[in-house]
Amino acid sequence: MINIPKGTKDILPDTSFKWQYLEDIARKITRLYNLKEIRTPIFEHTELFERSVGETTDIVNKEMYTFLDKGGRSITLKPEGTAGVARAFIESLSNSAMPVKMYYITPAFRYEKPQAGRLRQFHQFGVEVFGAAEAQTDAEVIMLAKDFLEAVGINNLRLDINSIGSGEDRKKYNQILKDYLNKNINSLCSLCRDRIEKNPLRVLDCKKDSCKAVLTDAPKTIDYLSAQDREHFESLKSILDDNNIKYTVNPYMVRGLDYYTKTVFEFLPANTLSSQETVCGGGRYDNLIQSLGGKPTPAVGFGLGLERLLLVLENSDVVIQDPNQLDVFIALTDKIPINTAIKLAMDLRKAGISADYDQMNRSLKAQLKYADKQGAKFCITIGGDEIQSGIYPIKNMQNGNILKVAQQDIIKTLTKELKII
Ligand code: ATP
Ligand code: MG
Repeated sequence: MINIPKGTKDILPDTSFKWQYLEDIARKITRLYNLKEIRTPIFEHTELFERSVGETTDIVNKEMYTFLDKGGRSITLKPEGTAGVARAFIESLSNSAMPVKMYYITPAFRYEKPQAGRLRQFHQFGVEVFGAAEAQTDAEVIMLAKDFLEAVGINNLRLDINSIGSGEDRKKYNQILKDYLNKNINSLCSLCRDRIEKNPLRVLDCKKDSCKAVLTDAPKTIDYLSAQDREHFESLKSILDDNNIKYTVNPYMVRGLDYYTKTVFEFLPANTLSSQETVCGGGRYDNLIQSLGGKPTPAVGFGLGLERLLLVLENSDVVIQDPNQLDVFIALTDKIPINTAIKLAMDLRKAGISADYDQMNRSLKAQLKYADKQGAKFCITIGGDEIQSGIYPIKNMQNGNILKVAQQDIIKTLTKELKII
């Protein structure tokens, strides 16, 4: 017996409709904002993630699925969506009309300790806009995420925003943060002690309580922004205010990836203190394209975890209806040849009505039980009397009502009835 790998999940036929529901809404909302889909490979050269996500991040240090292929190349399963899209932009899209606005829906792979909302294969809906440097694009991306969450049925998430600056001012801040952390080095975990020199901003992202305690008085990035970055942050806030989008400025939010500059944001459950439950995280990453060898190109985007979103939906008691339930099951009494059901089913399917019938030569009782299990909306039972009279009973499985209809009127009647329910 071979079991499913740890940290992965089958999306079984009785839940796949929930995924289709989220994907349909993602496609609908991104279309409203004039974004087009991009699909990049599941695996990339390992170096792409080392250079973009960053060598000091948890993802690159301990979470990547990396292997040598048969040609001896180091390959990594994508741990997030942005790096591959950035690579594709540099390779194929950098001469397009700007901005280039894209979205993706993709599995992602991280070797993590599996727990609720934390898997080794998970799924992200993400958005990337390349070429636009202004704050309205940060706002667009945030408003898109919010519209998506609301369309899905969620309006109890809080929005945290912050600016982590850029360029020289970021370097200046890093030095001030380093000094502060060095003063408190004895209270930090060993990993964070290590991070002080390599990437002090990462310490702000540590989930250990002892480190969090040190950070309550740490210097804030927003107090060290350049005039330009401060103005950018102020414009973003004013656009959000004008559009009645509530947010909290969280001065210690830095996000888990190295490539962010200026704006960072997260959508997370209102009452949580733990970033463990972040549903959507994003921000601006103006240096990423250049650091991967492309022309300097500003960019902003987000990644949204679909498993975490489904958890929030469950906790908010939002019920998603399965839209794929069978329209009609055709049941036959034992003397009627199966060809009768096949013929009718094929006619119904041509008319856009989903139809099924017995595939296993079972008794009428067993057929009806199966129809019920399938959640069939209607059932037509055909016996000798029906064949002789040409009148068929269409049973509404929800209320038990039966409509008796001439054979040639079945499609017309069902089309009408299916619109009503
Ligand atoms: P966390 O701090 O929770 O580890 P992160 O900072 O690593 O998240 P990102 O890299 O920004 O997360 O990924 C974007 C989103 O993808 C997260 O907000 C979350 O919803 C989802 N996500 C990240 N890692 C996992 C995982 N292992 N399993 C399921 N969803 C995940
Ligand atoms: Mg993580």
